[in-house]
Amino acid sequence: MTLSTAVEISYLFSSVLFVIGLKRLQSPATARRGNQLAAVAMFIAICATLLGNQIAEWNTILIGIAVGGIIGYWAAKTVQMTEMPELVGIFNGFGGAASALVAGAELLRLQSLNVTSPLGEGLSIVLSCLIGTVTFSGSFVAFGKLKGIVSGNPITFPLQKTLNAGLFIGLLVLGGAIMGLFQLGNLTTLNTFYIFTIAALSLGILLVIPIGGADMPVVISLLNSYSGLAASAAGFVISSNVLIISGALVGASGLILTLIMCKAMNRSLTNVAFGAFGGESIIGTQGDDSEKIARPVDAEGAAMILAYAQSVVVVPGYGLAVAQAQHELRKVVDNLEEKGVDVKYAIHPVAGRMPGHMNVLLAEADVSYDKLFDLDEINDDFDRTDVVLVVGANDVVNPEAHNPQSVIAGMPILDVDKAKSVIVMKRSLSTGFAGIDNPLFYMDHTLMLFGDAKETMNDLVREVREA
Ligand code: NDP
Repeated sequence: MTLSTAVEISYLFSSVLFVIGLKRLQSPATARRGNQLAAVAMFIAICATLLGNQIAEWNTILIGIAVGGIIGYWAAKTVQMTEMPELVGIFNGFGGAASALVAGAELLRLQSLNVTSPLGEGLSIVLSCLIGTVTFSGSFVAFGKLKGIVSGNPITFPLQKTLNAGLFIGLLVLGGAIMGLFQLGNLTTLNTFYIFTIAALSLGILLVIPIGGADMPVVISLLNSYSGLAASAAGFVISSNVLIISGALVGASGLILTLIMCKAMNRSLTNVAFGAFGGESIIGTQGDDSEKIARPVDAEGAAMILAYAQSVVVVPGYGLAVAQAQHELRKVVDNLEEKGVDVKYAIHPVAGRMPGHMNVLLAEADVSYDKLFDLDEINDDFDRTDVVLVVGANDVVNPEAHNPQSVIAGMPILDVDKAKSVIVMKRSLSTGFAGIDNPLFYMDHTLMLFGDAKETMNDLVREVREA
């Protein structure tokens, strides 16, 4: 077997492992193994690439691996789950930049050899550079918005969409010019290419600044998809099958994730991209304020209600993640189960700030997967549930979603208001991500357990044990 055949077989093997790894990510029970398989696949692909090429500069490569490995290890160990969208944003940005650099390097190489190139190669270079550069600058704006470095409010100005459309058309024209010049072996291609890159960088910034900070996780998922497409195009540039396949997998899965997030928030992709929503508070469709009375309860009272229930459903939300109260929650649930209470967890697809957020937090606290139920699986059970304990969740349990006049009308929610009683644990009556009031807090069968989720949960651990 020749070296090139061995490399191609390794690429094929890696690609199959990528697909199996991705498939395993669909369930929390198999996700860890899926991730490990994909990491092994990437390792094989890297080794095959290094061994298959005559590398003269091993030092540069080894330094790159060491620096990248250390940064990756440090990031994985230190980044909080609530900061995961930011980290993914940065990774997407670098992924996009890497693809654009590969395309640029190939262009320089062909220019230095002074050879013409087939139309297909020119197209791959242009696409890889365009998508990669837009992903790079867009991802860093998204990161800045999430971190608060750039204003989280939508940044808009007159004729913004016209400018974006004009810039996009200009990029298509420039891209066409690069391909034409390239075919002629014309040396002016490089200057056009630099202008093209600067225009693509500007487009990435302009596309993301009008989107509200709270919609950034959706944008980051979309940019993740773009980074995959850029990598796939880069795969065509350097004729790497494994890069084409893995890039296509990232592109498709990122797009599917984006659509799932949009569906769970009852938003369309165009509404997220052009709606300028999610930065400022939105007034809900509430009745007369004077009718709204919330009933507070203390940890002791809440513990009595929970301990004497037969069935309890816990609904975790963003507040649980911020407070990092998952371990204390687990202790409360253990204590309840010791008292014979049947406890389940209801997981809304967009609870928290990214899909799977709650599953990961609860897995951290060793909550068994078979106790986690998706919205579709558990929504019909609430009318048979004694107590629902809502921990730092708000929008995902807001019955206003059933009101056609509400801004969250149609958003699928967990129908916790159908349970016999509801205990809501949060610091105040303030709104969640969508910025609208929640009538659940003022219902007769709802009790508000005010306080930071971690501190209150600590009190609850003690009180449930003693109840
Ligand atoms: P929400 O943002 O609706 O509400 C979270 C609540 O947590 C707040 O009302 C806040 O109330 C409370 N909270 C914050 N800190 C603490 C704390 N330390 N202790 C106790 N409570 C706290 O979260 P949900 O999970 O219900 O909903 C997620 C929202 O995010 C949805 O609207 C969803 O569409 C959106 N979203 C989700 C994405 C995803 O993919 N998962 C992506 C983009 C957006 P208080 O200040 O009173 O404590």
